[in-house]
Amino acid sequence: MTKEDIISLPNNHLRLKSKRIGVITPEIIKVIEDMQAATISWDVSRKHEVGVALAAIQVDRPYKIVVVRNNYDNKQDHTFTAFINPQITKYEGEQVVDFEGCLSVPNIYGRVPRYTKVKVKALNTEGKIFRVTAEGFLARIFQHEIDHCEGLLFIDRIKNKEDAFFKLAEDGKLEPIDYEKDVRNDSILW
Ligand SMILES: [Zn+2]
Repeated sequence: MTKEDIISLPNNHLRLKSKRIGVITPEIIKVIEDMQAATISWDVSRKHEVGVALAAIQVDRPYKIVVVRNNYDNKQDHTFTAFINPQITKYEGEQVVDFEGCLSVPNIYGRVPRYTKVKVKALNTEGKIFRVTAEGFLARIFQHEIDHCEGLLFIDRIKNKEDAFFKLAEDGKLEPIDYEKDVRNDSILW
């Protein structure tokens, strides 16, 4: 797969609830490989952004699978960890508002409240349960991706009008945009 296989709004498949996986078949392993290839393909096409993670529904496969880059501070590191049937078992800390974007909501950023610490339980590709405690940006990634498995997007979580929306300028900085003027009338995005 490539970045062309990533679906984006207004495709309403993004609103589907993904299915739990019972048996990890070769088809599921192939979906995971496709997700990683699509994320890297997107990543190399972007100068100022990093493709940090992807949920299976974003390549139009309604399975509860999330892949997360092992080192998203290094664009050259193309390795991932797969989380099958990921579930947040505990939210800790407070909710903090910070910028988020999404490969399925192209070019739009918003400020989203998320918990600063979460515990995640998932299966690995061998079908074994493993647990991760994530803080800060990684905790935000898990909340964003596990939302995808439930048909939710980051734009659904924005509470204040002033937290929405922003776009990436040529120099890589985020600048506010006028929703009515710049977003709503842009049929490519919505
Ligand atoms: Zn996303």
